[in-house]
Amino acid sequence: MNGNIEELYDKQVYCPVCNEKFSTKKLRRSAMRVQSTDADFCVHYNSENPYFYALWVCRKCGYVEFENRFESISKAGADKIKKEVTPKWTPRDYGGKRDIAQAMQIYKLALYQAELLQKEYSNKAVLCLMIAWLYRYENDTASETRFMKSALELYAKAYSAEDFPIGGMDSAKLSYLIGELNRRCGNFRESIKWFDKAINDPNVKKSIHIKKKAREQWHKAAEYYKAAKPAE
Ligand SMILES: [Zn+2]
Repeated sequence: MNGNIEELYDKQVYCPVCNEKFSTKKLRRSAMRVQSTDADFCVHYNSENPYFYALWVCRKCGYVEFENRFESISKAGADKIKKEVTPKWTPRDYGGKRDIAQAMQIYKLALYQAELLQKEYSNKAVLCLMIAWLYRYENDTASETRFMKSALELYAKAYSAEDFPIGGMDSAKLSYLIGELNRRCGNFRESIKWFDKAINDPNVKKSIHIKKKAREQWHKAAEYYKAAKPAE
């Protein structure tokens, strides 16, 4: 990570839970440099990493949420944060440049709050997946797999319980992702089933890329399934 501070700028935020005004860093879109993208959509950056700044944290009350949902907390949700989170919260400011350790703390805090507020499966799934990716950056495979398995379970539940788009994905893309997470967790048979589902989904016609990736990863999974080898 060789990003410098100019890639980031300050955004003023108003907390809908406690009315605090605070500042949080955002990464300039023009400063993002993608190095590569993994088959489960995890992006590796040569620049500062936007994942580190995707969640906003109120320094005063401890409320954490993604930028696009930050303001939309319900009255009941805000009350729960005030009752369950704030009393245990030591005021601390995440408004500066963040490192991976701080990003990890923030994502785990967000996951705790998503559970507390009984959010939809897909809301918890994306947090688990992004925590898995942070562990991937750190080469901590055991922890990565643990969170990937949670993401997988939650996305599979979301697939049957929630309305599409789910986390910005249509049914073909989500089937593909569930297939790929299964493949990475070594569940090759299940993985093949989900890739088939993606390939046969009418929505796949809208995304040639997903269709191509699903076929490629289907073949990889099938090879491993036949050889009964552990995942790469
Ligand atoms: Zn607050």
